[in-house]
Amino acid sequence: MPAVTITSYNPADPDDLVVAVEEPGAEAVRAAVGRARAAQGDWLAAGAAARSAALGRMADAVEAHAPELAALIVREVGKPQAEAAGEVARTAAIWRYYAQAPYAPSGAVHETAAGPGLLFTRRRPYGVAGLIAPWNFPLAIPGWKAAPALAVGNAVVLKPAPEATACALRLAELAASAGLPEDVFTVLPGGATEGAALVDTADVVSFTGSTGVGRAVVRAATERGVPVQAELGGLNAALVLPDADIEPAAGHLAAAIAGYAGQKCTATSRVIAVGAAYEPLREALVKALAAVDDTVCGPVINAGARDRLTGAVSSAVEAGAVVLAGGRVPDRAGWYVEPTLLTDVPAEHPLASEEFFGPIAVLHAAADLDEAIALANDTPHSLSTSVHTRSLDVALAAADRLDAGMVRVNAPSSGVDFHLPFGGTKGAGHGDREQGQAALDFYTVSRTVSVLPGGAA
Ligand code: NAD
Repeated sequence: MPAVTITSYNPADPDDLVVAVEEPGAEAVRAAVGRARAAQGDWLAAGAAARSAALGRMADAVEAHAPELAALIVREVGKPQAEAAGEVARTAAIWRYYAQAPYAPSGAVHETAAGPGLLFTRRRPYGVAGLIAPWNFPLAIPGWKAAPALAVGNAVVLKPAPEATACALRLAELAASAGLPEDVFTVLPGGATEGAALVDTADVVSFTGSTGVGRAVVRAATERGVPVQAELGGLNAALVLPDADIEPAAGHLAAAIAGYAGQKCTATSRVIAVGAAYEPLREALVKALAAVDDTVCGPVINAGARDRLTGAVSSAVEAGAVVLAGGRVPDRAGWYVEPTLLTDVPAEHPLASEEFFGPIAVLHAAADLDEAIALANDTPHSLSTSVHTRSLDVALAAADRLDAGMVRVNAPSSGVDFHLPFGGTKGAGHGDREQGQAALDFYTVSRTVSVLPGGAA
């Protein structure tokens, strides 16, 4: 059979081939997992100081190559420069944050029910963590999966998205230069074949990507009885109350709709204006979206994504939707779509109910807060919801009653703090949270140990 080649092109310049590598195939994945399993014992036995130092050196390496890495992110996945630089800085911070984790307590001591002895719990790594990543945060997501998994003593096999192959291979080079043994941190490029093989062989699986693929990954890992977490797509809402400061709220919404061309799982795709907020918000948001330029939006990842987005807008318009802003493909090279705001999208149209992963949002009107919350909750894809208001009562009600995994008051729905748990509710996520302490818990299993005096009856 001829070898399959993975190619990754520059979304702003489709003639620019960033990388082409041969697909390694399922057997290569199994072999890599085998080598990782053999190397994991020494990595764990090396101790907290050695693991902490290696993770710290990885943070240093990312920082030392920051401009080059940001340029590679811009070139390979089309992220605007400022966001790419921000992602690199965050990646270094994530590795540095988890570099402290090897020293953290790994269990708790308990009293015996009766008599002498020692009861304690101890969290232990699973072995090989199989990490499957999307392309949209090509350094940060591999980092927030790999760093905690390694900190607690797992070996890691990372399968990046094909569209982010060059970024992942560069990360592997930096890891080697930071002294992370190759079999402890392996990057294996590939697509569905390699991803499925990894799910079939790893001891713990962490997946981030689209809902359909994620559900199959969860099923396969669960069938094998290995722990799995899946962070999936979102259909994120922004609620704007009449008491909000409309101009700054519109600025936040434009950033959350069109920032990195809406290709964030936390991007806003539904704007819900409550009561009297509707008219002023519509006007301010149309203006704010028109002001968005390449430094904020950028291209979408490939021609297929662009055609899917423009096709969805056309079919929504045919079904009665009204375009308030954007809606066209600019006449230029690269896979660009204008930041777009629609209204009157029929409820049964896919744009109203599915994640499209582009700079497109639908504007809805709600009579009051109750209706807005009901609308926001009327989706299985509940990842992040923003609420724009000056009222503490509304903010508290939203934090109580919104289904989302993240509620952000007077901030864009997109935005993540790496030291807090991260993930969606309902269909937007499965299993334990990522990031913060939650990730360290996910990559370990608790063992209960009872130590009684020798010779006790
Ligand atoms: P995708 O689902 O197409 O691919 C994700 C990864 O899964 C890739 O590495 C891909 O090669 C791999 N894969 C594909 N088929 C597989 C299979 N059968 N078995 C195992 N692995 C397989 O997603 P994408 O296009 O790379 O990324 C965009 C999606 O990711 C969006 O839906 C976005 O919302 C989601 N995302 C979610 C989060 C989150 O934390 N919730 C963060 C970023 C992106």
